[in-house]
Amino acid sequence: MESHAKVVVIGGGVVGCSILYHLAKLGWQDVVLLERSELTSGSSWHAAGVIHTINSDPNIARLQGYTINLYKELEELTGQSCGIHRPGGIYLASTPERLDYLKQERAKARYMGLETDFISLEHARELNPLIDPSKYLGALFEPMDGHVDPSGVTHAYAKGARHYGAKVHRNTPVLETNPRPDGGWDVVTPTGTIHAEIVVNAAGLWAREVGRLAGIDLPVQPMEHHYLITDMIPEVRDHGKEVAVTVDYEGNAYTRQEHDGLLLGTYESNCVPWAVAGTPLDFGHELLQDDLGRVTERLEMAFDRMPALARAGVKKVINGPFTFGPDGNPLIGPVPGLRNYWTAVGVMAGFCQGGGVGLCMAEWMVNGEPSIDIWGMDIARFGEFATRDWGTIKSAENYSRRFILTYPNETLPAGRKQKTTALYDRLVGKGAVMGVSYGLEHALWFARSPGEAVETPTFRRSNAFDHVAEEVRAVREAVGFIEIANYSKHEVRGPGAGAFLDRMLANRLPKPGRIALTPMLTPKGKLYGDLTVARLDEETFYLFGSGVAQNMHRRWFEMHLPPEGVVYRNKTDELHGIAIAGPRSRELLARLTRTDVTNSGLKFRDIRKMVVGNIPATVVRVSFSGELGYEFYCAPGYQLALYEALEREGADLGLRPYGGRALMSMRLEKNWGVWTTDFRPDFTAAESGLDAYVAFDKQADFIGKAAAQAERQQGPGKKLVTMVVKTEDLDCVADEPIFHDSTCVGYVTSGSFGHTVGKSLAMGYVPAVLAADGTKLQVELLGHFYDAEVTARALYDPDGVKMRR
Ligand SMILES: Cc1cc2nc3c(=O)[nH]c(=O)nc-3n(C[C@H](O)[C@H](O)[C@H](O)COP(=O)(O)OP(=O)(O)OC[C@H]3O[C@@H](n4cnc5c(N)ncnc54)[C@H](O)[C@@H]3O)c2cc1C
Repeated sequence: MESHAKVVVIGGGVVGCSILYHLAKLGWQDVVLLERSELTSGSSWHAAGVIHTINSDPNIARLQGYTINLYKELEELTGQSCGIHRPGGIYLASTPERLDYLKQERAKARYMGLETDFISLEHARELNPLIDPSKYLGALFEPMDGHVDPSGVTHAYAKGARHYGAKVHRNTPVLETNPRPDGGWDVVTPTGTIHAEIVVNAAGLWAREVGRLAGIDLPVQPMEHHYLITDMIPEVRDHGKEVAVTVDYEGNAYTRQEHDGLLLGTYESNCVPWAVAGTPLDFGHELLQDDLGRVTERLEMAFDRMPALARAGVKKVINGPFTFGPDGNPLIGPVPGLRNYWTAVGVMAGFCQGGGVGLCMAEWMVNGEPSIDIWGMDIARFGEFATRDWGTIKSAENYSRRFILTYPNETLPAGRKQKTTALYDRLVGKGAVMGVSYGLEHALWFARSPGEAVETPTFRRSNAFDHVAEEVRAVREAVGFIEIANYSKHEVRGPGAGAFLDRMLANRLPKPGRIALTPMLTPKGKLYGDLTVARLDEETFYLFGSGVAQNMHRRWFEMHLPPEGVVYRNKTDELHGIAIAGPRSRELLARLTRTDVTNSGLKFRDIRKMVVGNIPATVVRVSFSGELGYEFYCAPGYQLALYEALEREGADLGLRPYGGRALMSMRLEKNWGVWTTDFRPDFTAAESGLDAYVAFDKQADFIGKAAAQAERQQGPGKKLVTMVVKTEDLDCVADEPIFHDSTCVGYVTSGSFGHTVGKSLAMGYVPAVLAADGTKLQVELLGHFYDAEVTARALYDPDGVKMRR
């Protein structure tokens, strides 16, 4: 065995083999895969092999499309059959809400260029003669769907990888992974040690155990999963063509043809996490004891909807484990806090996603960044809060809800209160409906009393609507406060801090006591951050940004840190805080501090350390609502005192709390985008309009400068616009297609009702030629086409007078 490799991939399941294949295909030949037994010795060998494109994240859906299309190419390259069957897939709805969901999926498919469309129930029965159309309200058809042979696919990837020069060592368990001073890893096996520049944990069912070898706990959990294979069913045998793959959501069942019978699988609500303490090292090609009692109720539902199934005998029952992540999506990429250690774990649909995961991992390693935004799969969306136990709880929740509808305004109940602030009980006592972001509870909106603090899950406007309107009014007319513990705070200090940040950030650095807004770019000029940089003194900087992106940004900063002269810290958990906003916010602040907070004492975009309400705080004069506003950051231990002081002094000024929903409404009225939706690595500075904050003429060669300059000369092909959408009882959320002259030209990235301007608003990317003020467009929402119009200037205070007064 070799003693050195550029990359060692641990695990010869479908995911590890796909990564190896893609690395080798992109030209890295010094790459090795180590498999403890034979290939497919984890969950890969007993998969049902169903392939489909539908995923709530359009980029993951795209990667699933890539995976499916890859199989033919793999077969041609390797001569290894992947057992491809593509009879298409039917998605059945039997409630109006599920039909709405399918309309949303069809809408997304339009801008992804997929042929997904509704078919009549009669047509659905022609594709699957077992279904009883009277049980359903609608059927969506996806021609790409089908199934593959799991073992054939895994071996085809391995064969393809070898074809491009990669090496596969079977019967080579990895016993230890030890970090080296040079940043690489010693990968220890019984037959020798490989010095790897990069290690990839693709150990599937053993992801947790392999993670422990590097000292990390991964929040993934194998779950037991049943499917059964029937004896011959006459309707299937006599169908004349292959029966379409079918998903019956309310029946909680998926089926595909297997010989002359069917394979039927289900995701039961009383699901069983498997091997919670750890996957046995000697587990391999065996199955788990089946427990049909657990799925009987589900099977009866399926029998009711596909009566021929009830008459069929059961040939075989499979109960096998496969690994889930907390939100059902994979955890891939470099692990924040470790050098050159990558994961591709929690891939619960390896035959739909394995190709895309392999492609992104390889692009990321070889080119420095994946070609599309893979935030939905990035391991950095989890952090310390995602303990193993939390991972088990959330992964089980995700498994049990696989076919259960989750509405866009719904927050899921399992694993809540994992992380709270000192204000949690106070806010809940005020009627807060809490959401969660990066493990931390935060207020979404406030009901009139705790007893009313429940939101109806819906695709349309919810019972929160009027409450959010009141919160917005309070901010616009008096003063409101919002907890901002969920913003990220990064500290960069030291003699080299200025030079370091000048290279990391695209804008010019502020002077001491001032802040600046700045995009952070990748070398290819894609957005990698939308941050506020504050300079406390010559050598100390704070960066404020999106809380969910804190680990991703930490990874980015640490990856680029010079060997000395700069100290970086993620201070998010050390600085909590409260923001106040509204025309009376200065009056409130003046009551709380002896510092001069007049417009000349504390100017717009100033940052000061000062005493506020008796506690030491860092105050930033900034506004994300468009009103005069201030952010107060303090150590968590002071936050309750700050809160009580604000309440005490603000009562007669009309102070009231507001939540994240009101903030989203107000920022849309200002045409301001946010990270993870409107701003993300799918877009560039010029496309997003953040080029207004790029100092093209600054001396420092900031990351992405050349790409941003080139794009500036050429002009961006698409632009982020704000639209007024003429809807009635619903608003855009994200991913709704945008049309011009009946052609799909883009998609919505975020939307909400603008309560001050009284209009439904949305942001989205459209071709630059359609970005002019007044351009008439249409947006498809739940199957209806609504007129929309671009509003280039913010509808609320377009000149920003209010926040500067
Ligand atoms: C019953 C069932 C039905 C399913 N149906 C579908 C379906 O229809 N469609 C779909 O897309 N997916 C399906 N899946 C899921 C699919 O099987 C998984 O997504 C996929 O197998 C994950 O592959 P993997 O490579 O991540 O993990 P695994 O297949 O578990 O592979 C991990 C590999 O790592 C090796 N390994 C572990 N530790 C070490 C070590 N220390 N050193 C060296 N090697 C090591 C193991 O031996 C193993 O070969 C199903 C799964 C089950 C159980």
